[in-house]
Formats: sequence, structure tokens, C-alpha cells
Amino acid sequence: VDGEGNVTFKRLPTTQLVEALQLGIQCIVGGLQAKAARDVLYKDFLDIEIIHFPKEGTRTTPAHKFSDFTIRSYASVAFRHFRELFNIKPEEFLHSICEPLRELRNPGASGSLFYLTSDDEFILKTVQKKEADFLRGLLPGYYMNVTQNPRTLLPKYFGFYCYQGENKNIRIAVMNNLIPSQVHMHEKYDLKGSTFKRRASSQERQKESPTWKDLDFMERHPDGFLLDVETYNAVVKTVQRDCRVLESFRIMDYSFLIGVHYIDHTITGDSGITERLTDPSIVQQPKRMMYSTPMDTINAEFEVHNKPDDYLVETGGIPARTASGQRLLLYIGIIDILQSYRLRKQLEHTFKSVLTDASTISVTNPSFYSERFQRFLCNTVFKKISRDTGATKKFRT
Ligand code: ATP
Ligand code: CA
Ligand code: CA
Repeated sequence: VDGEGNVTFKRLPTTQLVEALQLGIQCIVGGLQAKAARDVLYKDFLDIEIIHFPKEGTRTTPAHKFSDFTIRSYASVAFRHFRELFNIKPEEFLHSICEPLRELRNPGASGSLFYLTSDDEFILKTVQKKEADFLRGLLPGYYMNVTQNPRTLLPKYFGFYCYQGENKNIRIAVMNNLIPSQVHMHEKYDLKGSTFKRRASSQERQKESPTWKDLDFMERHPDGFLLDVETYNAVVKTVQRDCRVLESFRIMDYSFLIGVHYIDHTITGDSGITERLTDPSIVQQPKRMMYSTPMDTINAEFEVHNKPDDYLVETGGIPARTASGQRLLLYIGIIDILQSYRLRKQLEHTFKSVLTDASTISVTNPSFYSERFQRFLCNTVFKKISRDTGATKKFRT
């Protein structure tokens, strides 16, 4: 926050950043519509489109109230293709981006800004230069995988831009939002499969909806989340497939994000009236993006016995139970994948290994990281319940 009470990022008022970006994306996506559709070429991934926005405006850019700025758009044609792949129409994308954005309180330590579009579809995240460089190099190979398998828990990037102005460069990636804002998340976990220092900080705990970590999860859910056999298998298969991709790019330090909604949770307010924490009167707008709900992502279908109420079906949360039989819907995805294994990490590993048991540290090598991540998810976090066992019968009503 600066001297005049404005929220700033790299000393730039964030409202200015957002508005400049909205103007930029409008011009870029608008300009793209004029270009004929064609197959994506490898060189499209390397392409950078640069648009200058002088204060007074030009023939193609509007006048604005900020100082001059420039928007760089990376791989515009390739991103257009990927938006099409997920059935995101240009006018819908523009509409999503240009409506007022909501800033999310970022629980990450990196200091990145997060914005959510008002239709709940996209997240805009500021990324560091080294992450941006990594993403640019990653794109061709990454999208080779995503086009082969659009049902993935990996983040989907739909645009990548850089704001340049007032001697600053701010890089922003547009990706899919995993957590529907209409559904109340009673708990949120950011899991890595590591136990080393993986506990929410005391500062995080004081927040209204803290993001908990691995050790917190094991304490609160020592028996994990119980899933139907088919659902469990679908989750495991998707996680394995995605981890293979991450490992092949030598990516590490990513997290598994889980939003947990307790279907039967009620709260008793001051009035003594018990109310549901999800408002059925809010009609969830169906997601326009393809393969975007958790159930779509893992390629699973609701079974009759645990199909959620209609107003929750659209959100596509994964039905699960706690060991004590509470009904849950889970919202999941893999996040924060722009960290690759480098020498710095190697040094850090050697150093930390001397101090503690190496397997519990979160900085290790990519294949070890991926294996531990999968083991934790498939054995500790998710457990399968057989529909034929007494246990499930007990849950069924
Ligand atoms: P750090 O590097 O310190 O871990 P970061 O700034 O890179 O943090 P992330 O780890 O990407 O941030 O995300 C921080 C939090 O933001 C997550 O725990 C999650 O609550 C939320 N978040 C991130 N990506 C998404 C997404 N695609 N959908 C919904 N929420 C998200
Ligand atoms: Ca992270
Ligand atoms: Ca990060």
C-alpha cells in the first residue's frame, strides 16, 4: 500500500495494472479475430506481439488516463488455438477478462497477485521472470501433452502477457480457476507429499479461510478422504498421467490443491437459525470451458448413490466421505508448476540432507518428487471404499 492508500505491486497501483492489461488483451484478442484461422506452427510459440498504448491513443488503441505503457502478448496464435480447444470463444474470453476482476488474497509466499474473473472461469497470476522464461520454453511440449489429453489436472494456460510501463515489467499468466466461488469451501489444502515444514503458518491459521498443508491434513484427516472405487481409480490414473508429464519436464515443487465442501454442514448464526453454507438459490452458471469441472477432469461420472443435489451437480465436485461418514465434494487440481530442477535446488538439497532425513524435504529431484507426491495422494489422501463392503452400506441412506 503506497502513501496515498493505493494497493500497489512493484509500486504500481494494481488497479492500473489490471486496467492496462484489460485494454491490452482487448486489442490483442480483437486483432486476432481479424487474422484467418490456421494450424499452429512451431514458430507461433516463439512469437511476441507488442502493442504500445500511448496516453493520447492511436488509430488502433484507445486513449487512457495512465502514463504510456506497452503490452507484450506471448504466443498469441498458439493460445487462440488452445482456447478453441477448450471451447472458449473469443468474445467470451474478452468478456471474462474485461469485466471487473476480483483480487484474491494470496496465501502463497511468493507475493504473486491473483485475480479471479467475475464469471469464475479464469485466474490471472503474476509470475516472476524466471517462471515466465520457463513457461515460454515449456509451452510447445506442454501443449503437445494437453492436446493429447485434455482431461488433465494440470493447469491450463490460456494467455500470457507482460505489462511494461513506468520502468517495470509485470508478467501475467491466465489459467483455469479450480475453486468455484459459489460453493463454500470449508477447508482448503495445498499438498506436496512432503512433511518437512509442511504446516500452515500461524499467520495463515488466523485467516478466515486458511490454506492448510500436508501435516495439517494428516492431523485432521488421518484416514484420508474415502472415494468410490471407480472415482478413486479415475483420480489415481489422472494423477499418474499428469505426474509423468511434469517429471518429463523436470518440474517440481508443484502442489495438489483441494477445496473441501461439507455437504451437510450447517451453521447456527446469532439468530439461532441454522442455515446451509451453500445457497441453493444461487444458480450456478454452467461452466463454458470444456473439461473444466473436477469430474470432467478425471473422466468420472456421478454414481446414483452419491450424486450431489442438483444445484451442486454443475460444479462437478468429486463426491467423497470422511472416515466418520460426512459427505463431501472435492475440488482439485495441480498448481504452481513453473519451478524446474536446477543446480540451485541441487545445492539446497545437499545442504538440507545433512540436517534432516532427505525423504521428508520438499526440495529433491523431479522423479523423487513426483513419486512421493503420487504416493501421498494415492495412499494417504485418497482411499477407496468398496461399494460391497459394510462400510459403504452404512453410509448409504
Ligand atoms: P508459493 O510459490 O509461495 O507457493 P505462489 O504465489 O506461487 O506461492 P500458488 O502456489 O500458485 O502461489 O498458489 C497459491 C494459492 O492460490 C493456492 O494455495 C490456492 O489457494 C490459490 N490458487 C492458485 N492457483 C489456483 C487456481 N488455478 N484456482 C484456484 N485457486 C488457486
Ligand atoms: Ca506453491
Ligand atoms: Ca510458486
